[in-house]
Amino acid sequence: MTKKLTGNQIRQDFIDFFVEHGHTAVPSMSLVPGGDATLLFTNSGMVQFKDVFVGTDKRPYTRAVDSQKCLRVAGKHNDLDEVGRDDTHHTFFEMLGNWSFGDYYKKEAIEWAWQLLTDVWGLDKTHLWATVFKDDKGNIPSDEEAADYWRLQPGFQKEQVLYFGRKDNFWEMAETGPCGPCSEIHYDRGEKYCDKQDVPGHVCAVNGECTRFLELWNLVFMQYNRLGPDTLEPLPATHVDTGMGFERIVSVLQEVNSNYKTDLFTKALDVLRSLTSHTAAEMQADFTPYRVVADHTRSAAFLIADGVVPGNMGRNYVCRMIIRRAARFGAKIGLHEPFLAKVAEAVIAEYGDFYPELKKNQATILDNLTREEIRFARTVEAGTAQLENLLSELRAANQTTLDGHRAFDLYATYGLPFEISRDIAREQGLDVDEKGFTEAKEIHSKASGGGKAMGKLGGEDSEFFAGIFKQLQKNKKLGEHGVEYDPYTGTQVDKYTGLEVLALVVNGESVESASLDDQVEVILPKTGFYIEAGGQVGDTGYLRFLPAPVMGRGGGGEGGAWEIEVAGMRRASAGVIVHIGEVISGQPKVGDKAVAEVDLVRRHDIMRNHTATHLMHAALHQVLGEGAVQAGSLVAPDRLRFDFNQPEAMTPEQIERVEKIVNDAIAADMPVTFKEKSLAEAKKEGAMALFGEKYGETVRTITVADNDHRYSYELCGGTHLDRTSDVGAFLIVSEGSAAAGVRRIEAVTGRGAYELIAKRFKALKQTAGALKSSVEEVPAKVESLQDEVSDLKKELANLRSQQALATFDLRLSTVQTVKDVNVLAVEIPDSTVDTLRMLADKFREKYPKGGAAVLVTGTTVIAVVTEDLVKRGVKAGDLITGIGGKGGGRPNLAQGSLPEGQVKDALGKVAKAVEEKLK
Ligand SMILES: [Zn+2]
Ligand SMILES: [Zn+2]
Repeated sequence: MTKKLTGNQIRQDFIDFFVEHGHTAVPSMSLVPGGDATLLFTNSGMVQFKDVFVGTDKRPYTRAVDSQKCLRVAGKHNDLDEVGRDDTHHTFFEMLGNWSFGDYYKKEAIEWAWQLLTDVWGLDKTHLWATVFKDDKGNIPSDEEAADYWRLQPGFQKEQVLYFGRKDNFWEMAETGPCGPCSEIHYDRGEKYCDKQDVPGHVCAVNGECTRFLELWNLVFMQYNRLGPDTLEPLPATHVDTGMGFERIVSVLQEVNSNYKTDLFTKALDVLRSLTSHTAAEMQADFTPYRVVADHTRSAAFLIADGVVPGNMGRNYVCRMIIRRAARFGAKIGLHEPFLAKVAEAVIAEYGDFYPELKKNQATILDNLTREEIRFARTVEAGTAQLENLLSELRAANQTTLDGHRAFDLYATYGLPFEISRDIAREQGLDVDEKGFTEAKEIHSKASGGGKAMGKLGGEDSEFFAGIFKQLQKNKKLGEHGVEYDPYTGTQVDKYTGLEVLALVVNGESVESASLDDQVEVILPKTGFYIEAGGQVGDTGYLRFLPAPVMGRGGGGEGGAWEIEVAGMRRASAGVIVHIGEVISGQPKVGDKAVAEVDLVRRHDIMRNHTATHLMHAALHQVLGEGAVQAGSLVAPDRLRFDFNQPEAMTPEQIERVEKIVNDAIAADMPVTFKEKSLAEAKKEGAMALFGEKYGETVRTITVADNDHRYSYELCGGTHLDRTSDVGAFLIVSEGSAAAGVRRIEAVTGRGAYELIAKRFKALKQTAGALKSSVEEVPAKVESLQDEVSDLKKELANLRSQQALATFDLRLSTVQTVKDVNVLAVEIPDSTVDTLRMLADKFREKYPKGGAAVLVTGTTVIAVVTEDLVKRGVKAGDLITGIGGKGGGRPNLAQGSLPEGQVKDALGKVAKAVEEKLK
């Protein structure tokens, strides 16, 4: 190796190399995979291109290169247990990849990999090994093609091609779908890197047991489509998908034996070390906490940058757990004050140039980390103490696994995440039942109304519709791009008249005609109905039979009129958009001509709410700052709902300001314009991109601006008004918490706003009528009424206590003498506890010695006993229980309750109760 490259240079080298070879550099997708409900987090480079391989997405390029942010901390791929213990595992990591979509294949993929590793990065050619596929079951042909290309590479040691079976060298996306052989490149770091040198009989080997050979890069060659366990058919076009662990290649090129010793972690570890005042040697001696903190802080910073803040459910829980785990490992090296923000600053400094979202959200990242540490610090001691108790009980009972439900209680009460409870248990040779914890969490989340589905699954019937698409293409009914989609200008009824019904699907089957009441899916060549996306709900409307013109050819079929009520829309597969509805009259047939009519009144309401959402998003940034990023959105006809990151509740003044800014923007009558741009260009210009949304290469941008200033600029595929004044009016209905660190605003516009105003004004007028005042005078009138009520209450309380006193004085004459003790048992009607206590004091004043009294109002009871009697064994609490009541307190004064309906009885027992206790 000639020069030591930094991690950032290595990443850039990779991208530059493939860009020079005709690849398009594609930015990493968010850690939150948009539109994929099966995944909690993006966990490989494949996620962003999966749809391209399956055929439901098309890109304007056929060669791509990227560095993808990945998180493996939940679900099937979970490396959390390993992190910290060794030098190679991470919760967050980057995956470098080059991609060919039906473009180049094995020859180029292998050639370029070889050139990059040896020519550009100067790795020793004799140290590189390649593996290729040879079926251990003997069914699929060996990949001799790849083996041959390896042997052709200049300087490659021909005997260093090895063959491996399905487990190592055959890649599949799922049980069916694209798959193919893969070829891995391994690097021999030399004998000194073997960690099994002391193991008798150990032999270092590729795919072996030790750390000498490292797998650097996996090249996947997709050439088959799996139809079943034993059936493969060749794909019409072959693809390449490669993945190289970024941290690993950096460790090799920087010649260190740990990912954590690469410069990617230097800044973060230096900060940590300056906080602990450990020397480098001391740090190495106890490296685990350092590794965990550095790793977890990096993950948390990237998560928060992608809009995932700490919370209790799903992704937010993971963010919380990671931060709390980092804090706990920090405590192991003596860090007790919040410190993660300082480490995160170092992470942002290292990664911020390539991943600008880190810099952009720096304040939010640091703020969330510190808040979460403080929250955790408040309860962690009580939580771990409680856990220690449970663990010692466990040991005493000779058990080894803590019940998951109890672990969940620890989380619910003390914020101790499962993973931390398990860490602590394992440190003592015990374990925690994970299934039980998950179960308890699910029960809890259902009870609290959380845990909603993460979104719609990509259609399971997409292959079925792909078949229909193929057929329609063959019959020239649809072009290569499929159904034409234009919800932006296509709402006028006359634009889409005379559309041919291309296909009807009932009960998952293609049919020639449908009948009354059938639930039907309809494919037309074009549609103006909006498909739910970006929070905006889909359009509804009608498809109606268009009768044939009396003269001429074409037109409708011979059948009679029919009507389909469209309730929703969906993209069933690449190129196929279906109208989902119900036949409400007649019998629609394939080949009939139809008129498609979007419910325009509803659509207009939706557009008002969508444009208002953009205006409000911009206003929130003005009032709360750039950190108030969208975390979720719903644009419906009757209201809009908007979730955004914000640690604290908004003040009434802030809410009012947002409302005013939006209404001013409405009144300014600004034009709302759209433009199509490349994603990269729009982002560079500062367009706000929305959380969890998946964007294509070309995006629509929506701008609200007047002559001299841009008010709002967002990436958005939704439908909008032409001018802001069409919103009419905007009113915030509520502001509340949606999740930890996330606030939710609900608002109304246009007709909804008018209805709200009318409803509220009516209530106000009724109130004014009842108060016999004008509307303007209502607040003052109500205030004076409240004063009056509070005076009356005071007066009433006074009267009652006077009345009680009078009763009490009367009853003092009923004091009995039991032995030498004065015993009083009375009921004071309509009184309060405070009055009873006051009367108890009066009793003690009158009988400073040798007195015991029981006072009751309703079912509330107070017992009072003088000090000398306490010494003689009479305790106030015992008197209450002695007459059948419940309660407690001090020996000389106790409070409790008597069973309903037994007050008279109980009072009769007082004298006897005193006598029994008296010594
Ligand atoms: Zn070895
Ligand atoms: Zn939008």
